[in-house]
Amino acid sequence: MPVDLLDAPLRISWDLCATEKQLSSAQLRSIAQQLTAAGVFYVSLENNPLTHPAIKPLLEQLLSGGCQVAIVLNGEPAELALLESIPRSVSLFVDCAAAVHAGQLDQARLRQTVARFRAAQRDPALLWLPRHGELPLLLDLLDICASEAVRGFKLPNQKISVNSEQTSSFLLPDCNDLEQLAVLIESSGLPEIPGLQLEVHDLFLWQLLQPLSGGKRSEYGGCQAADGLGHIDATGLLYPCSSWPEPLGQLLTDNLLDLWQTARRLEIRRQISQVPVGCEGCSDYPICLGGCRGLVKFCRDDGLKRDLLCSARRTV
Ligand code: SF4
Repeated sequence: MPVDLLDAPLRISWDLCATEKQLSSAQLRSIAQQLTAAGVFYVSLENNPLTHPAIKPLLEQLLSGGCQVAIVLNGEPAELALLESIPRSVSLFVDCAAAVHAGQLDQARLRQTVARFRAAQRDPALLWLPRHGELPLLLDLLDICASEAVRGFKLPNQKISVNSEQTSSFLLPDCNDLEQLAVLIESSGLPEIPGLQLEVHDLFLWQLLQPLSGGKRSEYGGCQAADGLGHIDATGLLYPCSSWPEPLGQLLTDNLLDLWQTARRLEIRRQISQVPVGCEGCSDYPICLGGCRGLVKFCRDDGLKRDLLCSARRTV
């Protein structure tokens, strides 16, 4: 194991439910035991986690094992009815995608969802995975953060592990989307949102929103797939991250720590350590390191391997 690689992921996203399949209570318990034993620091439970009948014991197990736990919710009434049973130490995120339809944001619906959480004595943060053509809605979402005094807004990495078809690439934002957002920000500016904790996975998006984050970036050091990050799907398959749809193995039959030592995992890290095609000689490479490698590997078909949101090499 090279000295600069971790022997277990620090942060895991975990899709608990899928329409056709969900793990049994015993299987959840087995995977959670592996996560806590490996010292995983943060677990984000996603994909309708509250619909799993074993959600409460799972939360108790992860929390008592020392994990920080977050849950991503849609804000459906059925979820709200279960909020009371969720420990207060669990962070709650409302997925804004439930309020976005055909490129339009249903602001009233999102505001109402936040209000319902607050009526239940919970203060959720927002989370959003923008699709192609949707990035301008980010300004509307920031306005909601400002007017509703939302405490946190997270723009995580794009999730493609459950759908690795190349054709899904047309769903993802690209550098033209980013340019469109940059023009809008240039003309209308960013709102003032005192106290907002903004977490932006993508370096290029973060750079545009930097004034809102006070210049601080909590999560970077190059692509963390198969090192600081991992992802588990609803069948127990372990992935390098949710943007890298190449399973490392099955946690129901193999141990997380063993899977993190395999040749397949090391090969992924070797690929990530290479300068991507299209990044050679870029003056920003030392801070960018080529951006998100998973999206590029599986969703870019023009031969280039630099981040989907990067339009060109940079020169000082
Ligand atoms: S070309 Fe773009 S993706 Fe590659 S290192 Fe430079 S800024 Fe990053």
